[in-house]
Amino acid sequence: MTVSLPLNGGCQCSALRYELSAAPLTLYACHCRNCQKQTGSAFVLSAIVPEAALTFIAGEPGKAEWASDAGNQRYGLFCKDCGSRIANGQTPSSGIFSLRAGTFDDTSWVRPVGHTWLKSAQSWMKFEKDDILCDTQPTDYGPFLERFRAFGIFAQ
Ligand SMILES: [Zn+2]
Ligand SMILES: [Zn+2]
Repeated sequence: MTVSLPLNGGCQCSALRYELSAAPLTLYACHCRNCQKQTGSAFVLSAIVPEAALTFIAGEPGKAEWASDAGNQRYGLFCKDCGSRIANGQTPSSGIFSLRAGTFDDTSWVRPVGHTWLKSAQSWMKFEKDDILCDTQPTDYGPFLERFRAFGIFAQ
């Protein structure tokens, strides 16, 4: 069974709601320290989505900005009422957002193709044998896109 579009989601308090009109390009878990700090957890489940496909249909997101280690300007969009982080982007735009997959209303289909920044992953993490594993930032996202397509979650 395939999941149909659009996908809807939002923050914890529902003041900020979004609609996603295109299928994610891939979905993976990032274990970098920034992601751990932003969530207070072990990793972020990041759905990579076309920036143009994400529309906020209720509320206006707040914006938190920082300079990444790679030297580009990154920002996060969050609910100003409850503080839930919804997506991260960058300036100038790369055309994609990293959307927090846990914010989808239906997370039954959510499954990461792999894991990035294993260098800072917590020691108790276990991985499946076909997972794509990267010590730091991947240089080639090709395998991430391919494996997500192969899951067949969305109609092509
Ligand atoms: Zn909220
Ligand atoms: Zn990260």
